[in-house]
Amino acid sequence: MRLGSKFILIVAGILSVTLALNTLYNLDQQHNFHKKQLQERGRSLGHVLSMLTPELVAEFNFTRLNRYAREITRQKDVVYAAFVDIDKQPLTTYLNDKDTLVSKVLTSLPQQGMAARLRALQGAEELMPFEYPITGNESLLGYFVVGIDRRPLDLLFKQQLWLHAWIYGAIICFLSFAIYLVFRTNVLEPVLSLIQASRRVGRGEYQRVKVNSTHELGELARAFNSMTDEIQEEQHKLHYQANFDALTDLPNRMMAFDRLQSEISRASREQQQLAVMFIDLDNFKVVNDTLGHATGDQLLSNLGQRLKEELRCADMIARLGGDEFLVLLTDIKELTEVEQVAERLAMAISIPIKLENRDVVVHSSIGIAMYPDDGDSAEALMANADNAMYQAKDMTRASICFFTREMNERVQERLQMEQDLNMALELGELNLVFQPMVDAQTGKHLGAEVLLRWNHSEKGLISPDIFIPIAEATGQIIPIGRWVISQAAKCWSRWQQCGWDCGYLAINISRVQFQEQLSWIIGEMLAYHRLPAHAFELEITESVLMNDEQEVAEELQQLRAMGIKLALDDFGTGYSSLSYLKRFTFDVLKIDRSFVSGLPESEDDLSVVRAIIAMAHGLDLQVVAEGVENELQLDLLQRLDCDTAQGYLFAKPMNTDEYESYLSLIEHERFDKRDRFPNPHFS
Ligand code: C2E
Ligand code: MG
Ligand code: MG
Repeated sequence: MRLGSKFILIVAGILSVTLALNTLYNLDQQHNFHKKQLQERGRSLGHVLSMLTPELVAEFNFTRLNRYAREITRQKDVVYAAFVDIDKQPLTTYLNDKDTLVSKVLTSLPQQGMAARLRALQGAEELMPFEYPITGNESLLGYFVVGIDRRPLDLLFKQQLWLHAWIYGAIICFLSFAIYLVFRTNVLEPVLSLIQASRRVGRGEYQRVKVNSTHELGELARAFNSMTDEIQEEQHKLHYQANFDALTDLPNRMMAFDRLQSEISRASREQQQLAVMFIDLDNFKVVNDTLGHATGDQLLSNLGQRLKEELRCADMIARLGGDEFLVLLTDIKELTEVEQVAERLAMAISIPIKLENRDVVVHSSIGIAMYPDDGDSAEALMANADNAMYQAKDMTRASICFFTREMNERVQERLQMEQDLNMALELGELNLVFQPMVDAQTGKHLGAEVLLRWNHSEKGLISPDIFIPIAEATGQIIPIGRWVISQAAKCWSRWQQCGWDCGYLAINISRVQFQEQLSWIIGEMLAYHRLPAHAFELEITESVLMNDEQEVAEELQQLRAMGIKLALDDFGTGYSSLSYLKRFTFDVLKIDRSFVSGLPESEDDLSVVRAIIAMAHGLDLQVVAEGVENELQLDLLQRLDCDTAQGYLFAKPMNTDEYESYLSLIEHERFDKRDRFPNPHFS
């Protein structure tokens, strides 16, 4: 039962009981009053007659007695009147023969005498019998009996009762309805509207309820409204945090993905084309590193606004994270439209931005994938635009690249390679080769660089330049790198046991390997194989240093403290930032082979190599020249005071057996260090 019905029932019940009790009490009082009046009338009649008639009774004056009796019965409500002797035998009796009760007695007692009829009437419930003694000379002469009808009184009582019942029933109905209306407007409706509003809040619709009163329910409605406002505000905040990028105020990856999905459905219904663009800033990290992260953030936020201004309202720009933006162009008719927008965006990005009183210029790489040609799902389009962007990165700066089928094949090939690389270690397809490093001045053997080879069962030998970046991207380089270190350690200890002075082994270490505690792993490996720290030299590239500087610096410090030498590999190809040389302490600097290969002809390369050697020596670093292939190069390097040389002129990378023969040869001093050592595997 609902609250309204309960309330109305309780109100109606209380009113009914109260009014009914009140009515009954009043009617009963009235009835008693009337009854007393009747009784009083009968008594006074009887009294008067009993005083008037002793003589008539004593004289048996029936005529007058009869007249009296008749006169009395003419009175209203008097049914019978009689004078009876002391034995209660009627002297004269007068019955109101119009009365139904009298008729009933007359018909039921047709043969009986007046005495029996009188007794019957005196015993009738409907009448009030009165009996008054008639005395004369202080002796009882007879009685005057009179019967007064009580039925009109009862009828009146019943009529009054019904009348009250109707009137009070109507009053109760009216009052109940009026109270219900008041209750409904003041209590039920506000409560119901609060219930409905709560349900709407549950469904995520935030609608305020009307506040009509100042009483408790009004207070409740006000409290509800302020709660709704707070929830709405929180929801907005959560929605914003989940869907927008706080830095640029642009939609984030999640929202971009949702929007892309809905635009794809729309485009498929309306048979339209879409363009998805991946925009990546080139070398944004340099801005962060040189100007600080706060400035980097400001740059991103400014660029986000610029890009937004270049687009139509129907298009979307989102920040996917870091320095990556996604642009979605809808309703494309021609590819040239997309190209024009991409050019406009690239141009907008490359306009200098004033940050901290400096003009900062950034360039971008843009990859584009089209719906439906390059994919029919949000995932496929995003992945393909990403691939095209990477392709654009390999091209000149501010380059724009559309996704192509060939790119897809390359991506598939790369995915296949990732999977094969997973199994390569277990299948024994990976092995190490060793390339000697010699004293550039004397030709004395100093050690060897450890290089990884992948002999794929189907594709044959795969260059580390191809598979190492993949292993780095997937994290597979971590187990592979550990395997390289342990294999190198095993070789070194075996060669030592054979009595060969193999010098050090220079091991290449990837950026990703610093994610695990490299110094601890190398320490464990050295301890396990009982190797001295000088058995290893670690070669790292500048890209390692660009990451988490503090952590890398600590690791490098730790390794140096263990007595392991550190070499900065491929110097000259990256940023060649002198600040890195100052900040991180190295022992060796390896000049990249691209500079050595230009010697002695290229004046530029000569200047670079000369400057690098001078600078390295100035910083107390040993210099290794990679890729020395001929005598001229070696002569020049000797003149430039280069310390160590490595290259095909001395030996190509050799497998373990070949390198062991090489070691045993130099041990017996029968090896001419200037002869190239044949390498059937990698030539
Ligand atoms: P890198 O560390 O700069 O290695 C030197 C590269 O120069 C080697 O190529 C070597 O074979 C090649 N090289 C040496 N002398 C000459 C020469 O006279 N002429 C020419 N043209 N090339 C010469 P490789 O073995 O293909 O290795 C390429 C790169 O792969 C390495 O460059 C290194 O960065 C990476 N890599 C190789 N093995 C590993 C490894 O075990 N771990 C890691 N993280 N990277 C490795
Ligand atoms: Mg190296
Ligand atoms: Mg190198």
